[in-house]
Amino acid sequence: MAQQTQMGRVVPYFERWMGSYPDLESLAEAEEDDVLKLWEGLGYYSRARNILKAAKTIRERFNGEFPSSAEDISSLPGIGEYTTGAISSIAFNAPNVCIDANVKRVFARLLNMDLPFNAPAFHDRVKGEAEALLPEGHAREFNQALMELGQLVCMKKPVCDMCPVQSFCLSLKRGVVDQRPVPASPREVVKVDVATGVLFHEGRVLIQKRRPDDVWPGLWEFPGGVIEEGEKPEDTVVREYLEEVELTVEPVEKITVVKYSYTKYRVTLHCYQCTSLVSAPSPVFHEAVEGCFVQPQQLGQYAFPSGHRKLMEHMRGDLRYSQYNF
Ligand code: SF4
Repeated sequence: MAQQTQMGRVVPYFERWMGSYPDLESLAEAEEDDVLKLWEGLGYYSRARNILKAAKTIRERFNGEFPSSAEDISSLPGIGEYTTGAISSIAFNAPNVCIDANVKRVFARLLNMDLPFNAPAFHDRVKGEAEALLPEGHAREFNQALMELGQLVCMKKPVCDMCPVQSFCLSLKRGVVDQRPVPASPREVVKVDVATGVLFHEGRVLIQKRRPDDVWPGLWEFPGGVIEEGEKPEDTVVREYLEEVELTVEPVEKITVVKYSYTKYRVTLHCYQCTSLVSAPSPVFHEAVEGCFVQPQQLGQYAFPSGHRKLMEHMRGDLRYSQYNF
């Protein structure tokens, strides 16, 4: 939960999660919809789905007991090199290193490394150096000490005066601490314009559940999609409703414009209130595993991606929709 998320935000999520799933068995029995709902707002939903899959795998392949070997731990869904190192060393004191951003920063400065922070060669060198230093029988303390050194002393603004390893630090010796680590090469940013429509019918709104092979699998949304070249946002809504759910709708007014980001994408979401041009709309879901009309006050039971949650938050405070109880 704490990956890519500030610890202060994580605490209530963690408490709610542990209240619902206090042990592996209760998690392995959980429904994906309920797990996603508890995770809603943390982003990177594949982590929630993978925890659920991992719990089921542990129950089925490892008789409900968390595996202790690095090989078995890394075979679990969603567990990569870092998490394998963290679990195997901290829980089982196995001789594996655990390379997080703090550890990378410490080594970049200690060894005065001039490779960019996100270069694979930089990661490999830090890993090799840490493995060479790993003291036998003390992986647990070594990894935690390194991570805390980065978190509490060798921070972005390091406190070299109180650093226990300052006598070994090459970048301090050479007066280049402020140039280490070498910043990561900039990530590509892609701007996307998207339109969505909230279709009202007899006091209810239409939502659909995203497919397992799509972005945000298993989350719910209002139908919509990417605005094509030369298209107005309201035309996109009309086209997407026809393509996705075989409904003819009319965007009657703009609700708001929402901005949000995920991975490299910076999304502008144009949101419209729609009505159906037929008296009894009967959607046929082509881009979703299921869908339904629900009362706005029931939307809280479903997990939505952040753009659509922002849209609902807006509608909750927008007097034009006050009679609907979003
Ligand atoms: S001496 Fe300063 S730069 Fe070097 S490891 Fe310690 S805190 Fe980091």
